[in-house]
Amino acid sequence: VGHSLQDLLLARIVDVPDYPKPGVTFKDITPLLADAEAFGALTEALAGLCRRHRADKVVGLEARGFILGAPAAVRAGIGFVPVRKAGKLPGATLGESYALEYGTAEIEIHAGALRPGDRVLVIDDVLATGGTAEASLKLVRRAGAEVAGVAVLMELGFLPGRKRLEAALDGAPLDAL
Ligand code: AMP
Repeated sequence: VGHSLQDLLLARIVDVPDYPKPGVTFKDITPLLADAEAFGALTEALAGLCRRHRADKVVGLEARGFILGAPAAVRAGIGFVPVRKAGKLPGATLGESYALEYGTAEIEIHAGALRPGDRVLVIDDVLATGGTAEASLKLVRRAGAEVAGVAVLMELGFLPGRKRLEAALDGAPLDAL
């Protein structure tokens, strides 16, 4: 990843202190999305990762993983599959629960959305604790598909997300742009 791409992207991500709660710095990507050059460059970079890792499906994580993953999938000429919070998908689903700081969260994928042999690139905006991405990788594998990798715009390097994903990745790459 070239420095000019990183600079272009970083200049349009805004740190919002104490959102959604005290002590958390929220990474707001809406200025990046509103900028055609930056959003275009990000889409090209993500599509490039789809090709490099020979993915044939993008799995995007609700909600900002939809915004980043869908155009990348179209650009790479492959399909897009949403992973949603529990209760949002109309068909038969596979679900995974994971622990949050307080309580648990559950995500789902349509049971028939992936086929055995599909190579899946999971896309989201921010990798924080890695809980969401880890649960998504479990869903992808339970659906019988292969993990081509995880691609995020940003990795919060002060959190152990990369470490947490190690087992679920099982050697597949984690790229943070
Ligand atoms: P985690 O499961 O802890 O890795 O959290 C990842 C999910 O929460 C992603 O879908 C992100 O969109 C969101 N998220 C976590 N931390 C932040 C943050 N500091 N700024 C923006 N989004 C975040």
